[in-house]
Amino acid sequence: MTTKKYPKGGEFLVKETKPQDIFIPEEFSEEQIMIKETCSDFLEKEILPRLDEIDNQNDGLMVNLLEKAGELGLLGVSVPEKYDGFGQDMNTSMLSTEIMGTFSSFAHVGIGTFPILYYGTEDQKNKYLPKLASGEYKGAYCLTEPGAGSDANSGKSKATLSSDGKHYILNGQKMWITNGGFADVYTVFAKIDDDKDLSAFIVEKTYGGIKLGQEEKKMGIKGSSTCMMFFEDCEIPVENLLGERGKGFKIALNILNNGRIKLAAAVLGSGKNVINNSVKYANERVQFGQSIANFGAIQAKIAEQSIRLFAVESALYRCSNDIQNNIVEFIEQGMSKENAVINAQKEFAAEAAILKVSASEALDFVVDEGVQIYGGMGYSAEAPMERAYRDSRINRIFEGTNEINRMLTVDFLLKKAFKNELPLLSASQAVAKELMSIPDFGEVDESLFAREYKLLTNFKKAALLVAGAAAQKFMQKLNYEQEILMNISDIIMDCYLAESMLLRVNKLVDLKDSNSYKEQIAMVEVFIYDAADRIHKNAKDALNSFASGDELRMMLLGIKRFTKHSGLDSKTSRRIIAKKLIDENGHCF
Ligand SMILES: Cc1cc2nc3c(=O)[nH]c(=O)nc-3n(C[C@H](O)[C@H](O)[C@H](O)COP(=O)(O)OP(=O)(O)OC[C@H]3O[C@@H](n4cnc5c(N)ncnc54)[C@H](O)[C@@H]3O)c2cc1C
Repeated sequence: MTTKKYPKGGEFLVKETKPQDIFIPEEFSEEQIMIKETCSDFLEKEILPRLDEIDNQNDGLMVNLLEKAGELGLLGVSVPEKYDGFGQDMNTSMLSTEIMGTFSSFAHVGIGTFPILYYGTEDQKNKYLPKLASGEYKGAYCLTEPGAGSDANSGKSKATLSSDGKHYILNGQKMWITNGGFADVYTVFAKIDDDKDLSAFIVEKTYGGIKLGQEEKKMGIKGSSTCMMFFEDCEIPVENLLGERGKGFKIALNILNNGRIKLAAAVLGSGKNVINNSVKYANERVQFGQSIANFGAIQAKIAEQSIRLFAVESALYRCSNDIQNNIVEFIEQGMSKENAVINAQKEFAAEAAILKVSASEALDFVVDEGVQIYGGMGYSAEAPMERAYRDSRINRIFEGTNEINRMLTVDFLLKKAFKNELPLLSASQAVAKELMSIPDFGEVDESLFAREYKLLTNFKKAALLVAGAAAQKFMQKLNYEQEILMNISDIIMDCYLAESMLLRVNKLVDLKDSNSYKEQIAMVEVFIYDAADRIHKNAKDALNSFASGDELRMMLLGIKRFTKHSGLDSKTSRRIIAKKLIDENGHCF
């Protein structure tokens, strides 16, 4: 077997990573920045001035905007050049998604393209991709049914082969279909005959036998079309089966790996916009004879908004670059581009789930505090926070709910461990052994980041200790202990975010000096300080639920040691962070 040069998925839990081994957003190339600026231009000129019109779904406006975005190439950033796309890498695709995601209704523009891009035959790709990339065709992804949401493989939609063998006849119902109202091409998942697993089909609107339900009346992302769809004897040419029969569920899951990282990117864009507005409003709003930005309570909110988003951003671009490197490596090993992309995204499925959960929850925090900073105006539809607050909430629900993604995080990692792809079991045994020995507190190292690196190592030990003990206790039945899975997943999430942030800031400091990055240093210090308490609580909750006696006492002591923080004046750190944002009148990290 060829040895891998680049990080593998999940490896962050058991391996030390060096700052120079990760990509940081400060390293985007000029070309990437140019693409970002094209997206920003489009957003500022075409979308932001018309938010109300878009939300009201004024006649054909969204379709018109999608077509304009297509003309600029913004719908085909990841589509290879031979299919009239831009053929850009993962990071560039995430960067453009970040900008387009600033307005949530526009975040899912490419939803119908990826299944065909990665699983289509050459004929299918030639037929559909250029039109999807140019915006001539709008795509949709039809998996969910009234009775099949999180349990997506349980759908009842059914396809049967026509007697002349030329068509599949599709009957069934789909629900919550984004772009449903205007899409021209749908990727529809349905079972052929009495198959156990779904198959996937490319369905054109013109095939007939398709009825659309009313537009759903939603809490947020009102500009995006969401409909039920009914298929009644819809005739799909046999050549439009996507991938192999019975492999549709795999396609659906693999597409979701990409969808989750993209969601994190889109959420990041929304979050930065909310921070911008929060800071601007705080600077403008005067109470008690001064700008409310002068108040410590407001500064703490602004700082925390920024810390949470900075953590997500650090993890997002680290992960997407790791995926890109794995794609290149898989291609070097002889895989087709499409297989390389699918496999690299699968390799980082745990990180993708972590990003989906942490980003969507960070955004909910950011918008909630945004409303609070705006006070009464936060509650008014005249100001931007009301929409941002409503639009944010969906992110914890689609692309797999956050509960499902938390469970998947642990599941993906344990599966890798059982397949001997990740030495989780031996690492967790080593931690258990360490607990039996006399702790070595070593010398106190006061150099920059020394405390944070030590804590990070210990956080990972806490994750390994709890996960290892739970896996040993429940074996295959761990799946039924969902509360414990939530605890473990939250600990792992904190490890990944803390590490990504720490490596990023360390890399920045190495490139320049610590004085230029004092706010970033403060952000990572506060995040790790808070993470210590969160990890302590999650670990305690988990361990108390299944261990007892001496074993429990020993593990609790270990957890206490692994999460022991020497203390931080987080008030002052948050003030340092907020000051920079307030002085610069907006998001600046
Ligand atoms: C605006 C919007 C756009 C959407 N766009 C699309 C689209 O384009 N294409 C598409 O196919 N779908 C789409 N969806 C559907 C979306 O993916 C589903 O809503 C989501 O997967 C959850 O399914 P559900 O709504 O049936 O919830 P359910 O699965 O019924 O879940 C309800 C609750 O139960 C929890 N739960 C479910 N199973 C478990 C379990 N095993 N263990 C613990 N807790 C569990 C969930 O976490 C959740 O909290 C969209 C939904 C919305 C609202």
